[in-house]
Amino acid sequence: MFGCAGDHDLPVLEVAPRLATRTFVPLAARPTPVTSLLGERVWIKRDDLVSPRYGGNKVRRWEWLLGDARAKGATTLVTVGGLGSTQMTSLSAHAGASGFRVVGVLFDQPWTPFVDEALALDEHFGAKILRAGGYVRTAIETLRTMRRERGAVLIPPGASGPLANVAYVDAMLELGRQVERGELPRPDRIVVACGSGGTAVGLALGAAILGWPTVVVAVRITDLIASNPLTLGALTLGTKRLLFREGLEKRRLDVRLEMDHRFIGKGYGYSTPAAEAGAKRFESVFGAAGEVTYSGKAFAALERIVEEHPSEMILFWNTLSTTGRAQGMFG
Ligand SMILES: *Cc1c(COP(=O)(O)O)cnc(C)c1O
Repeated sequence: MFGCAGDHDLPVLEVAPRLATRTFVPLAARPTPVTSLLGERVWIKRDDLVSPRYGGNKVRRWEWLLGDARAKGATTLVTVGGLGSTQMTSLSAHAGASGFRVVGVLFDQPWTPFVDEALALDEHFGAKILRAGGYVRTAIETLRTMRRERGAVLIPPGASGPLANVAYVDAMLELGRQVERGELPRPDRIVVACGSGGTAVGLALGAAILGWPTVVVAVRITDLIASNPLTLGALTLGTKRLLFREGLEKRRLDVRLEMDHRFIGKGYGYSTPAAEAGAKRFESVFGAAGEVTYSGKAFAALERIVEEHPSEMILFWNTLSTTGRAQGMFG
């Protein structure tokens, strides 16, 4: 189950070959499909289908992060997120199946049917859940848990970081291969939900490595303190440095990353009328339940951006799983 990255056909290894020796846990079905909407002007990258167990944008990240935890000899992973955190659900699904124990310290967030579904899935996948309450108590509970669970690896909220972000540099190079094969035209603009920002940063760096003029629009779905130009800038720099260390040829990389702050509303997890409408549109396009925290806001942004840029080819990079979810059970 644990091998090294070099055992797999990952396009990022062609540009940063020293990554090949990293411990790697293969979880993703790649490449994920691309499909068109609105004729040929809007396309979707289906990272919801990256795994039948539970898809979405965390799966590619776990391949590297679980590998790293394994290389460090860890058997327990502690993570932190909201009650309805997809990171918690995804980690429970994938790390649990890879032999890790998963403990989640979860903070309160607005209650929705999606939160119910997430908690039920976390339990179904065998994770241990600690409900901590507010942010301060969550921080204290996390420290306590780390002290109790000797040798555990902590996966912070959002799970972004240089190594995690390599996953979406690789995903962008995967899209590059799909464009090369003629499966879709090269996108002028990519719209993606932005929490901690690792997905958007990885995609923007990948586009720069490809030499594409593509703009990545990070639609902010979490609070400004956790996700802003400074945090994204720091992630970009850290990821670039890691790639250079791992053998990426030193050169100027023209990273075109923009943030869209218009759809966040009151904050992470809070619904807005636009997010409700976006979630419904998501449902009609994907034939699976949407929700208001991630996909609703990102899809609302997509519709606006498509109107604002009528001559561009726009790609929606879907981050929300449509697999492994108890469709219909939770409303
Ligand atoms: C985690 C998550 C995001 C945010 O991804 P980041 O890389 O942290 O910005 C967006 N959408 C969904 C569905 C997620 O689970």
